Amino acid sequence: MMVYISNFFKKKRNLKLAIGALVMANVISANVPSFLGGHAEPLNSIEFETPSTSDITLEEMKNLIYSSDKLTEEEKAFIYNEDLFTDILPYINQSEYMKFTYRSKFSHMDIVNYNNFIANIINADGLYHTWTPSNLYVNNYSGLASEDPTASTAAHEEVHALQYMPVVIEEETDKYYSFFTEPTAEMIAHEYWGAPIKEYKEEIRLIRILMEIIGAEPIKQYIFTGDFSMIEERVRHNLDEEEYAEFLECVKEDVSGNNNLRNARLLDIYQSLYKNIYGQNMREDEVITVIKDNNNSLQRYYFNSRLGDEHFILGEYVTDENGKITIVPIRHDIEPIASRENMFMHTNKIN
Ligand SMILES: [Zn+2]
Repeated sequence: MMVYISNFFKKKRNLKLAIGALVMANVISANVPSFLGGHAEPLNSIEFETPSTSDITLEEMKNLIYSSDKLTEEEKAFIYNEDLFTDILPYINQSEYMKFTYRSKFSHMDIVNYNNFIANIINADGLYHTWTPSNLYVNNYSGLASEDPTASTAAHEEVHALQYMPVVIEEETDKYYSFFTEPTAEMIAHEYWGAPIKEYKEEIRLIRILMEIIGAEPIKQYIFTGDFSMIEERVRHNLDEEEYAEFLECVKEDVSGNNNLRNARLLDIYQSLYKNIYGQNMREDEVITVIKDNNNSLQRYYFNSRLGDEHFILGEYVTDENGKITIVPIRHDIEPIASRENMFMHTNKIN
């Protein structure tokens, strides 16, 4: 879960969240980093004032994390996920805002076991708040070993610290597409820490389908730099004006609450998008059909290229001690399915 500041105070369903955020902001206001000057600045002014700095190297990233005096050695090793930083620093280094915030937040990183009173108000396993960007809040924090359920929460909250997130969302300059935030946090925690996918399953399915249609690259570009242009380029040119406006409405909404209507609209838009790009119906696409139907015969990875596609065929029937019969999927290796990126090397030229 992540919390950002916007007109969400006006929405009733966010009232509990808002109270939680305010209580927490009060409790931890001493930790508000100095770059905010004690009060929140609109994103644009931070961007304009950010001086150009050198790129962050892998070594600097490691030093930043290991310089935190709040983390144990185990926590430092957990937070410094070398594969992940290797993959995302090329994106981070495209943005002065991202470099600036990384250098500010990672040198003071802390995993905070937040109190149950707050956790109960907002009903969350973890929390990341843009007002306290160095803190990963984990409810009932019990450790980071693979058997600790809080390890996956810590990983999820760390991804929020890695993602592009404006400090304040100005209504007039709202360029924050919060739909991508939660599902990708869950996916990245899964692909780089092996965390089980616990939440946002429906939205993850929708992000996966979008990545199958337009490639994973535009989504990575957006979530790690805040630059939406690659998504825009691949989506806008392949939808009519009204559909594109609707797409933007959908991806501006976060994933809290009941989003069945939004999710159904997105699937409709995907059909048009697919048809306009590939010239055929999306239902004829085998990979997308598997994802859409939640058929577990295919596991695709979108962020961590070290992981190959995994295909399962239903095979073995196993009877447990209670006589219950379950079907155990058997791993079945086939040639990896090509990434869709190549497709756009071509279409981008046409556009
Ligand atoms: Zn989250």
